[in-house]
Amino acid sequence: MLSTQTIALLPDYISNQIAAGEVVQRPESIIKELVENALDAGADSILVIAHKAGKQSIHVIDNGSGMSKEDLLLSIQRHATSKIKTSQDLERISTLGFRGEALASIAAIAHIEIKTKRKDAEHGWSLTAEPLQDITLEPCITEIGTQVIVKNMFFNVPARKKFLKSDLVEFRHISETMYKSALGHPECRFTFYDGDTLVFDVQASSLQDRIKNLYGREVSEGLLPIHHESNEVQITGFIGLPHLARQSRAGQHFFMNQRPIISRSLAHAVFQPYEHLIEKNMHPFFVVNLSLDPTKVDVNVHPQKHEVKFEYERGIYNAIHQAVGNALSKAHIIPEMQFREQIAQQPFERLSISTHKESSIDSGGSYVNRLTGEIIHHRDEQFRRYDAPEITKQHRTAFEHLFGTEPELVMPIQEQIQIQERVFGSMWQLHAKYIFIQNADGVMIVDQHAAHERIIYEKSLKALNMQAMQGQTLLFPIVVQLLPEDRLIFDQIHADLEKLGFRFSVEGHQISVSAVPFDIMAGTEHLALQDIITQFREYETIRPHGSRDNIAASMGCKAAIKAGHTLSESEMQSLIQDLFACDMPGVCPHGRPIILEMQLREFDRRFGRTS
Ligand code: ADP
Ligand code: MG
Repeated sequence: MLSTQTIALLPDYISNQIAAGEVVQRPESIIKELVENALDAGADSILVIAHKAGKQSIHVIDNGSGMSKEDLLLSIQRHATSKIKTSQDLERISTLGFRGEALASIAAIAHIEIKTKRKDAEHGWSLTAEPLQDITLEPCITEIGTQVIVKNMFFNVPARKKFLKSDLVEFRHISETMYKSALGHPECRFTFYDGDTLVFDVQASSLQDRIKNLYGREVSEGLLPIHHESNEVQITGFIGLPHLARQSRAGQHFFMNQRPIISRSLAHAVFQPYEHLIEKNMHPFFVVNLSLDPTKVDVNVHPQKHEVKFEYERGIYNAIHQAVGNALSKAHIIPEMQFREQIAQQPFERLSISTHKESSIDSGGSYVNRLTGEIIHHRDEQFRRYDAPEITKQHRTAFEHLFGTEPELVMPIQEQIQIQERVFGSMWQLHAKYIFIQNADGVMIVDQHAAHERIIYEKSLKALNMQAMQGQTLLFPIVVQLLPEDRLIFDQIHADLEKLGFRFSVEGHQISVSAVPFDIMAGTEHLALQDIITQFREYETIRPHGSRDNIAASMGCKAAIKAGHTLSESEMQSLIQDLFACDMPGVCPHGRPIILEMQLREFDRRFGRTS
């Protein structure tokens, strides 16, 4: 008789292999899981060695609790964990692991060897396992703690092996994870080798020292501490000054109860106060720790555990936003008033694409209300037509409440925040250095050199990228002879310099300058070329952006009026006008503030006037 049963339970080794696909995607995932286990075991020193970007072997050694023989055997079984026992435990997770599937998943797709010894044990135990083979378990001599060696990853899943990227790419993933682990646990020593090359060895320290040891002096000197404490969440950590912003997000780190997490809405909460301080496509540096009650957050959203769901996402968004804004305005990087005013003008902003390229969050239409921190997720079609069946009454009311319009419209989001036309009152100059301007709310103080630098910088960038500027022809051309290293730079950038208004003719070693940009001050023409090249060379070490950005910054630095330069009323007027016509009037090309604002309210408070 034909059997009618077509459904069969999969054998363990197949179901393990399927499940492994979710946990173990690349060598980096193995390292992440093994380091988490070491931290959960209370280790305060962890050594990681990755051979051939982990494709050949991965070795993780910790000095944590170690395991007994019985636990060692169980540890590689699926859903075997010492970290939770009941479903209540699942709601208040305080360890990094809890799913009990990492070791089982690794053992399903690679050769694994674990050596472990508990503090009170006479000797250790060594286990080796590989898919479809018997497990061996024998006594061994080893240090207190646990060592795990993983070899031949994906040897039995060739399809997945094929999808591994080049060593360089895989190593970059590993390195990112190692940086994150080390930043999340400054109390633990981390030693990390790429083959036999030491990548870093960082001793237990404060978070600030950990950042310094990992990222170097430039970063550690550009940090601002942040702090916030409420019933919902405690926030600590550091944010970087605007000049530390980078084109990639590699310098952005969130930890929730010491677990690295990714969240594009929270990343936006950090980014938002930097708006107008950094270019749109740049990402500020930060290490932000959130501590909150583990029952108020769900970490069991994804097998890799880096996405979390907060009960009070909105409150946390606000708290981060405020903590970052406070730190920046305390350091006088952003004027407090300007910060609020800009948000009120345009409270809605589209969230940028996912913070992690492999994240499963979709990057479709999500908006944040920057006044309330509300995150609005929606798909365009849902809101486009009033009578679309997907629109529930609830959606509609929420939408109307938030936007004051019916949801038949596409969301009225402006891409850019316009700085309103400002009416400026009287101006005066302090020590030929700062310009004081009375405005409706109090007084604005502008650093004249930094302001002029910003103006020339933006103008030069436009000239370089869009429309070249005419220069001022010199009556008598200036002949310049450059040092060989400067000559190399000249050859590299002279076409761009011509766009700024320079005109050259080159004869052998000599360069004859027959026109200079109008911004070059009369009487300094003969030094202009040499000065700009010198500046360019100096900036090259600290401004790893494109060279046009550097040329514009060098031009700004060379041509801007200096402190000590007395300005007439009308010169001040036009300087301020030009400044506010800039895309980013608040910060000079090196990230220092240009404008401070003091509110009348603040004066009243200090003078003890109550209202
Ligand atoms: P989980 O971490 O989710 O519990 P794992 O598969 O990663 O699941 O580990 C299974 C169990 O093995 C852990 O719960 C823990 O008891 C034990 N274990 C794993 N790694 C270590 C280690 N480095 N030191 C001590 N115990 C470990
Ligand atoms: Mg684990």
